[in-house]
Amino acid sequence: MFDTILLAVDGSEHALRATAAAAEMARKHQSRLWVVTVVSPLPGTYAAGLGADNVTKLENFQQEQAQELLEQTKANLGEVAAHAQTEVLHGTPAEMILQAVETYQADLVVMGSRGLGRLGGLLLGSQSQRVIQHANCPVLLVK
Ligand code: ATP
Ligand code: MG
Repeated sequence: MFDTILLAVDGSEHALRATAAAAEMARKHQSRLWVVTVVSPLPGTYAAGLGADNVTKLENFQQEQAQELLEQTKANLGEVAAHAQTEVLHGTPAEMILQAVETYQADLVVMGSRGLGRLGGLLLGSQSQRVIQHANCPVLLVK
């Protein structure tokens, strides 16, 4: 039923639990897995204050961190990592996740209900809310 699962991770505890759920689903359904993390561009005013060289350094650092997160996530997936591919995407997380659903023709998205954001009282984060609102496939939000 779920041939291709898209797992979105941001380094949060919720995303870690989503990783375990995605591994379980992929094992049961023998799914292919795409694991993505999205790096957002620095706000323009902030970037202008930093200067071009520092912006490049910061962007390279963000890219490295994102790649490390994907490697760590693959390690956390266990044996199903053999069927997993990873990609660092750039833009707004929800938009890029929704675009990835189309690109990879995913038939399930697995993500956390919350992420790294600080507004702990909310049930859903803004990105998970946008994905469930607009995705044309089932979305598993892990609490
Ligand atoms: P907010 O970002 O609105 O302050 P939050 O960080 O608590 O709130 P979300 O950002 O919606 O909540 O995170 C929910 C889930 O969305 C995360 O557990 C993760 O699965 C996914 N997600 C969030 N940001 C990213 C990202 N940059 N790349 C990939 N997945 C992400
Ligand atoms: Mg967030």
